Amino acid sequence: MFTKILIANRGEIACRVIETARQLGVATVAVYSDADRDAKHVALADEAVHIGGAAPAESYLRGERIVEAALATGAQAIHPGYGFLSENPEFVEMVETAGLVFIGPSASAIRKMGLKDAAKALMQEAGIPVVPGYHGDAQDPVFLAQQAAKIGYPVLIKAVAGGGGKGMRLVEEPAAFSAALESAQGEATTAFGNADVLIEKYIQHPRHIEVQVFGDGERAVHLFERDCSLQRRHQKVIEEAPAPGMTEKMRAVMGQAAVRAAEAIGYRGAGTVEFIVDGNDSLRADGFWFMEMNTRLQVEHPVTEAITGVDLVEWQLRVASGEALPATQEWLTITGHSFEVRLYAEDVPKGFLPATGTLEHLVFPQGARVDSGVQSGDAISPFYDPMIAKIITHGASREIALGKMQQAIGACQIAGLQTNLAFLGALCRHEGFARGEVDTGLIARDLEALVQEPEVTPQHWAQAALAGLGLMGEVAPETGFALWQPLTWSINLQQEEEHREIAVTVQSAVHHEVDVGETRVRAQRLAAGWRFDEAHAPAQVMIGDEITLFGPRAVTFTRHDPLARGTEEAGTGNVVEAPMPGLVKAVFASAGQVVTKGDRLAILEAMKMEHTLLAMRDGVISDILVNEGAQVEAGAALIALETEEDTQ
Ligand code: ADP
Repeated sequence: MFTKILIANRGEIACRVIETARQLGVATVAVYSDADRDAKHVALADEAVHIGGAAPAESYLRGERIVEAALATGAQAIHPGYGFLSENPEFVEMVETAGLVFIGPSASAIRKMGLKDAAKALMQEAGIPVVPGYHGDAQDPVFLAQQAAKIGYPVLIKAVAGGGGKGMRLVEEPAAFSAALESAQGEATTAFGNADVLIEKYIQHPRHIEVQVFGDGERAVHLFERDCSLQRRHQKVIEEAPAPGMTEKMRAVMGQAAVRAAEAIGYRGAGTVEFIVDGNDSLRADGFWFMEMNTRLQVEHPVTEAITGVDLVEWQLRVASGEALPATQEWLTITGHSFEVRLYAEDVPKGFLPATGTLEHLVFPQGARVDSGVQSGDAISPFYDPMIAKIITHGASREIALGKMQQAIGACQIAGLQTNLAFLGALCRHEGFARGEVDTGLIARDLEALVQEPEVTPQHWAQAALAGLGLMGEVAPETGFALWQPLTWSINLQQEEEHREIAVTVQSAVHHEVDVGETRVRAQRLAAGWRFDEAHAPAQVMIGDEITLFGPRAVTFTRHDPLARGTEEAGTGNVVEAPMPGLVKAVFASAGQVVTKGDRLAILEAMKMEHTLLAMRDGVISDILVNEGAQVEAGAALIALETEEDTQ
């Protein structure tokens, strides 16, 4: 076993690797950027080396700098985590040339699977079913359109260098092909510096089922499947293992295909073979096709660990340090069921935009595994993936594991920024999902219901008012009585766009009457805590003037000084603003142009994705306030429409 390793990554995966290394008595070296000086992974590691600026290109993608750090600290091996340099064959060569061990596959194995087109060709040769399609070199748009017609619509355009659903477009009919091709190529160029695409038959009602494999460079075993069908825009949201409805026969056939794929490229370490599965009715042993192989540890690996009892990072370190595969296929078994949800800083009502800000208050649930790279007080910055944590539960049955997940989500407390917690909670309560009816279209089909925010009730307002007035804590019995009369307090609260002035009449230390508009709420303190009418008060936190109530949805109220009210200006609806910090990729409008609500006005590139900004109403463009290529802050005014009066 190694005595010291360097982890060329950040966030939850860096922390995850450090934890296993520690259990094996292996010392760890973290690397960090300017933005991560105080990050959790830096604090956890035995040593840490600063490697550059906040942008990944200036730090976590600087292979040479990372190798230097390993040599300088005496680390013998480098664990790449996932993302960043984990699937970069040049980096592997650089590590090996420096006399260090790369904890992962060989450069040649990564190259063979690196591009989706070459990988598919190779797998076809190895006798593994692949999705019908065109995966050749020719990239002429007319030729590609012909291929699409030959395959038969609907088709999927995929960036050959793709990952994370980027550079991928579903095309339903020939007329939409050329626009989709252009936009896929544009996104592929931005994200991967490679515009090449392949065309695939689009499998209807598809399920995404992947097999965890582990090789020693010659032989491989599989650790069963994960179902990652719960996706939004081709990005995984909830994963589970095993796959609902999987039969022993299909599991064996898929497992063998995955092992064959790994052995065909002399795979060493942890890898994942992704299959697309026809989910139309029940799973069939001839209804799955190879999509791609990820030559690294996968984000969702914990569900496999939960059902097999294997620590995959431990296996990675053992095999990389020269030990044999820790288990044979016969030794591996499945126990129970496991789920993972990806908790993100995201503004769900605004279309799942990545959110940034400070985690003012962060309490993770008990009774679940939580893999996280952040702590209370940390910032979610625009430089990296806005993941806050992965929550993983395990139970004897699928139903139990899902029930535990619902509890874990309900017990999670986050204040300070927007998260997708309520959305994850809604998904876990989705009836079809609970029955195991998963396919990659589930979220899109039921999106409206899933993003429905639970109503903010008078009881919520009442609780926030009491909290804001400091009336919920321990109070002396006589507080609130003035000349034997009940005392009335008043407070101004804001929740999103809504302002209210709320009156609280203190009847006794344990009983207040709260007037929320027309509604009178009775607040009572019982032995078990506060009750607002019949409802038990959810957990709450107050930070500065912000009061957050937790529960199925975190609701935040702001306490206002009454004199300060009215000074905030509401949006005028005349200006298209940048919804997040980013780069203005394109502006399609010009001054004087007449636009209709929903017209495409500009593209903002942020977090490596393109976001199209649309006209919010019919009107005439009065001004373009930004140039293509400009870097803008969140809220920056980009395009102005003439005001309604101007146009009349
Ligand atoms: P990426 O590498 O960008 O994540 P993948 O090739 O892994 O792209 O595909 C991501 C997701 O897109 C899959 O999980 C699946 O939901 C969907 N998908 C991919 N290929 C097909 C296909 N041929 N038909 C239907 N859906 C597909």
